[in-house]
Amino acid sequence: MNNIEFDARHIWHPYTSAINPLPCYEVTHAEGCTLTFASGEQVIDGMASWWSAVHGYNHPELNAAAHKQVDTFSHVMFGGLTHQPAIDVSKALLAMAPAGINRVFLADSGSVSVEVAIKMALQYWACQGQSQKHKLVTVRNGYHGDTFAAMSACDPINGMHSLFEQTLAKQYFAPAPQTQFGQSFSEDDILPMQELIENHHLDIAALIIEPVVQGAGGMRFYSPEYLRRCRELCDQYDILMICDEIATGFGRTGKLFACEHAGITPDIMCVGKALTGGYMTLAATLCTEDVALGVCQGLPGVFMHGPTYMGNPLACSVAAASLNILAKNEWQQQVNAIEAQLKQALFPFNKNERVQNVRVLGAIGVIEMKHPIDVARTQARLISHGVWLRPFGRLLYMMPPYIITSEELSKITRAIGKVLEE
Ligand SMILES: *Cc1c(COP(=O)(O)O)cnc(C)c1O
Repeated sequence: MNNIEFDARHIWHPYTSAINPLPCYEVTHAEGCTLTFASGEQVIDGMASWWSAVHGYNHPELNAAAHKQVDTFSHVMFGGLTHQPAIDVSKALLAMAPAGINRVFLADSGSVSVEVAIKMALQYWACQGQSQKHKLVTVRNGYHGDTFAAMSACDPINGMHSLFEQTLAKQYFAPAPQTQFGQSFSEDDILPMQELIENHHLDIAALIIEPVVQGAGGMRFYSPEYLRRCRELCDQYDILMICDEIATGFGRTGKLFACEHAGITPDIMCVGKALTGGYMTLAATLCTEDVALGVCQGLPGVFMHGPTYMGNPLACSVAAASLNILAKNEWQQQVNAIEAQLKQALFPFNKNERVQNVRVLGAIGVIEMKHPIDVARTQARLISHGVWLRPFGRLLYMMPPYIITSEELSKITRAIGKVLEE
């Protein structure tokens, strides 16, 4: 059996059938924005490994941080011990985060950071003697991860809630925000959310939402005013606000964090994905002093969470190096340049009769088709043009590494043009 045969026979991949797996390509090297396959083919990566590899692959500073830490120590338990990499990454996160955020919980993945955020919110209210406040309110088309509490806040249809009906917590869902980013806000847009909160605030612990960009639930860009109204409602009705910045954080939307588009500070904020520059898994749940104190007031007096690999030094040192690169602020110009080029190259595809809508925000480009995309076939065509994208549903989308050159980006948009013609 060769590698591809073994893989297809024995290894699970994300959202892939064990009976009829999609084709899989073996990577032997990755450098800058280029992936090299075992076949010798090379492709420009338009996905940044799902929002993560913002500085590109095989980055000298990130490599150096990993080498230095692996030769010092790779891991120690975080219970009762601390270390420089955890201090460095936490300092950098707090320096970047919106004003008012000042506590860091280091988690092992995005989904875990969402679990931690939800648990913080529930424990906060339980410790105020309000354990009846245990539900979440959110919007449709959201995505917050694959673990059970996170899943309960994902879009009920995309997230296949019917499959897990007996197990999943029931949450409150408002329609997805309708006012698109850049449009003037329509007052009607917030009314369903307002009504849900007015009717149910006594049992709602938190509002959870992806700020401005709904990612895996549909790649929708909505008005920051909607987010501002959510913040107002949370303040008015004693509800904590959780912003899930796992996809949007670290510059992707043109601001360091997407909640900056609305000028708000959430009570709890999740980050992940690009945190380590795509090197290894690490996420964090940040919160305000008020939340941290509230959670630890009364019994049990401690926050009830502590993963074995919490604060992994290897991941923290690479994350600190990645945040250090971001702190030089080159990302701003890089993301602006990608946005301008994507607008110019992708908007003309609006004329294609198979295309429903083209949208661009920051370093994110989305082509929404009228019909579902044949993933295997489209991917094979794109690879033949030297490009790696992974469409899903009716969406062909890209969020390339920030370091992508204008020539590399043109290669991606030209390949899309060719595939749309075929
Ligand atoms: C990817 C993602 C998650 C889940 O993160 P994992 O690291 O895959 O567990 C949660 N929320 C959002 C918005 C995401 O994009």
